Amino acid sequence: MDCLFCKIIAGEIPSKKLYEDEKVLAFYDIDPQAPVHFLVVPKEHIPSPAAIDGENCAVVAHIYAVIAQLAKELKLEKGYRVVANCGEDGGQTVGHLHFHVLAGRLLAWPPG
Ligand code: 5GP
Ligand code: ZN
Repeated sequence: MDCLFCKIIAGEIPSKKLYEDEKVLAFYDIDPQAPVHFLVVPKEHIPSPAAIDGENCAVVAHIYAVIAQLAKELKLEKGYRVVANCGEDGGQTVGHLHFHVLAGRLLAWPPG
């Protein structure tokens, strides 16, 4: 399958890995939008947030637990933002479900 993040998960494209287990991979974003910016992805190819359903949703809860653990390890005690862009208007550019974790500066709200 021609999916960038599946290739990163398979190790065919290098990435700066932060965490990995049998279900998920976390790696730093190649174009960071904050001092800390990493992505957490399910190893299963789920195309977008709109493709989350009763069958595959358990990995989403696991991803949030992994994010909370990584935030502790990275000492993000001032806070962070978790973002999952969906579709064209949502700004999604890679068709494999991913959660951005942004931290290290005050993040604007609402987003542009
Ligand atoms: P989206 O725009 O779909 O919400 O997020 C995709 C993210 O993937 C972007 O923040 C982009 O910088 C990141 N990205 C795109 N290609 C690569 C890559 O080859 N390696 C890494 N580490 N991140 C990438
Ligand atoms: Zn994929």
